[in-house]
This record gives sequence, C-alpha cells and structure tokens, in this order.
Amino acid sequence: MVKIKCNLGKVRKDKKLKQTDLALMTGISQKAISELESGKSKGISFSTASKLCEALNVTLDELFEIEKDIENLEIEVLEKLSCSFCGKKEHEVDVLIISKNKKVLICSSCVERCNQLISTKKGGK
Ligand SMILES: [Zn+2]
Repeated sequence: MVKIKCNLGKVRKDKKLKQTDLALMTGISQKAISELESGKSKGISFSTASKLCEALNVTLDELFEIEKDIENLEIEVLEKLSCSFCGKKEHEVDVLIISKNKKVLICSSCVERCNQLISTKKGGK
C-alpha cells in the first residue's frame, strides 16, 4: 500500500502565505485548501495541482510525497512466504532463505538442487 501525502501546509508556511492568500492566488476555495492540508481531501484534480504548484513555485514532487506503508508491506511479504523457485510454502520446507529486498526466497531443497547441479557440472568436466 502506498499513500500520497500532501505537503501543501508545510510548503505554504515556508512561503509565508496564509490559506486565504493562496486561495486568492489560485482561485481555489480556502475550504479546499484547508481540506488538502489536513488530509481530509480524497483527491486533487490536475488543474488544482498545477495551480498550486504555479502559485507556490514548487514542483509536484515537493507538493506531494509518496509514503510507503511499511507495516502493510511486511505483512504482505510474510503472507506470501514461499520459495520463488519451486513455490513451496514456508511450512513445507526446512529452511526458507529470504533475499535482502524481501522479493526473492529460496528453500533448502532448491539450494540442495542447485548444489547438485553445480557438482554434476563440475564432475562432467
Ligand atoms: Zn524451493
């Protein structure tokens, strides 16, 4: 899960503007600005976003931030804990080794198979 965080309040304060100033500059209602700042707003239109960027002289990157929900990410990974090579689940194997980025997993029997393949290849030389 990824959340988009609006930094409007922070950016606006950095520019020493009031919500009412920004409303006048952009033509966006002060209520809409306040909702964006408090996170109550569910979304923003492209035209509103570009008006805000223009008025505040910032890029979209500065106005919005993508926040990764790390807690949920962990759970997602844990639920899918199975070998990326043979597909066996954690409880079906002896050892499951997880890569640093938590995207690839390998079980002990796959490691064994790899070792066998390697030694067969070596032996064949
Ligand atoms: Zn495996």
